Amino acid sequence: MKIRKVGVIGAGQMGTGIAQICAQAGFQVGLNDISKDRIEAGLATINGNLARRVKSGKLSEADREAALSRISKVASFDGFGDYDLLIESAVEDEQVKRKIYQSLCPHLKPDAIVGSNTSSISITRLASATDRPERFMGIHFMNPVPVMELVELIRGIATEEQTFAAVKEFVTTLHKTIAVSEDFPAFIVNRILLPMINEAIYTLYEGVGGVEAIDTAMKLGARHPMGPLELADFIGLDTCLSVMQVLYDGLADSKYRPCPLLVKYVEAGWLGRKSNRGFYDYRGEKPVPTR
Ligand code: NAD
Repeated sequence: MKIRKVGVIGAGQMGTGIAQICAQAGFQVGLNDISKDRIEAGLATINGNLARRVKSGKLSEADREAALSRISKVASFDGFGDYDLLIESAVEDEQVKRKIYQSLCPHLKPDAIVGSNTSSISITRLASATDRPERFMGIHFMNPVPVMELVELIRGIATEEQTFAAVKEFVTTLHKTIAVSEDFPAFIVNRILLPMINEAIYTLYEGVGGVEAIDTAMKLGARHPMGPLELADFIGLDTCLSVMQVLYDGLADSKYRPCPLLVKYVEAGWLGRKSNRGFYDYRGEKPVPTR
């Protein structure tokens, strides 16, 4: 099947980026969120990103206008009736995602494919909350979506080959490189990355180093482009905690236990960049370490 219309559910930092690159690649895009304000904010972000690309000579004004004209707001799931592919990118909470599929699927045409951008949750388990496990799979983009080259593709136990082939062609059209992962907790990238970030938070918690020392150490000592705490703020501390919980529960190994300091930051609502405070405070001109 040919994918032409793509629905994106969840207009947060990831959903917005997914909508942008799909529109730039020529797909018709419908953007949905439980919050109308998030849809508006998402469209404003896309507008700003595309305007910056025009300014730097990477995009023509005509292409910017054409991309924007391909994105529409979809206020409720009944607006997705003629969409070919739905990408769910709502919060990393299994119950929220299950509820979305249950109310979304009755509105979709029978051959529509549903993908989840989950960072960690079992694709097979999520698929079981839909009416189409054979047309469901993981399509895991990286943050920031317009910049990062990789997309992980994950088949659930029931995913049909036709579904995988259609999604593979779609992702190739977006000019991304694919890594295929088996359906195990957190897949490949986050299985390796998140325990490293969690360990950095333990290093802070145990007083081995402060926020700046830890980030500087990993940037200059391991050639990481961002320090692990800076990266955690960028990902979102709630998402980091959810991924660690999925690893801890799914692999039943104490080495994945989320650091209590990460839990405390999330409980405080200090979620990183998106809430203006995390391991750094972003409210001033320059980020200031909070520890
Ligand atoms: P975010 O908090 O920026 O956005 C989540 C959005 O989901 C919010 O706008 C919220 O209003 C919306 N939402 C909540 N419930 C909803 C519902 N019932 N229906 C529609 N929308 C709803 O989070 P994010 O960072 O964009 O993450 C979204 C997904 O992408 C998660 O599954 C996350 O694990 C995954 N992901 C995140 C990253 C990252 O670095 N942040 C990277 C790859 C994948």
